[in-house]
Amino acid sequence: MFNAESLIANEPNEFDLKIEISRLRQASVEIWIDSEPLQEPHDICLWSLAASCCRPGNFEIFTCGCGNAGCAGIEEGVTVTHKGERIEWSLRSPQSKDGFKDEQEWRERSKLLHFSFDRAQYIREIQQEILYAEFNHPNDIELGPEWQEPQTFATLAQSLADGLAGTRAA
Ligand SMILES: [Zn+2]
Repeated sequence: MFNAESLIANEPNEFDLKIEISRLRQASVEIWIDSEPLQEPHDICLWSLAASCCRPGNFEIFTCGCGNAGCAGIEEGVTVTHKGERIEWSLRSPQSKDGFKDEQEWRERSKLLHFSFDRAQYIREIQQEILYAEFNHPNDIELGPEWQEPQTFATLAQSLADGLAGTRAA
């Protein structure tokens, strides 16, 4: 019999981050898993993604453009666990409750997705994409909601480097 659990245990999913800067100097971010785009029509918070490289937790990786995930109907983020050489994701898809009658209907009709990434591949992919964006646009693109301090690829890359250094030191 087909056993999804054992497939997941043996073969890691491949994580692919795509950051594009438009001519209007807006960052557009997509996550692809196993060569397919993750179909969530929301902004992706690169800060949460960077943090998920450094520690487990529940992260609002998908969020509203204003920075408040709840505003887009997202009240349950992505649960990230760190297990040895794997970094795993559990999330409900769609992430947003918008369009469902209530939370119960969303729970019944959404799918629980689980991915298991190779830790080194996951971190390398996220760090490389951020460093590449930093190289091209260190301070000229503002990331994050307007009400926050201006944040740029330079500060994001630094925060990820600091987080990873802390992980290694621990
Ligand atoms: Zn909003």
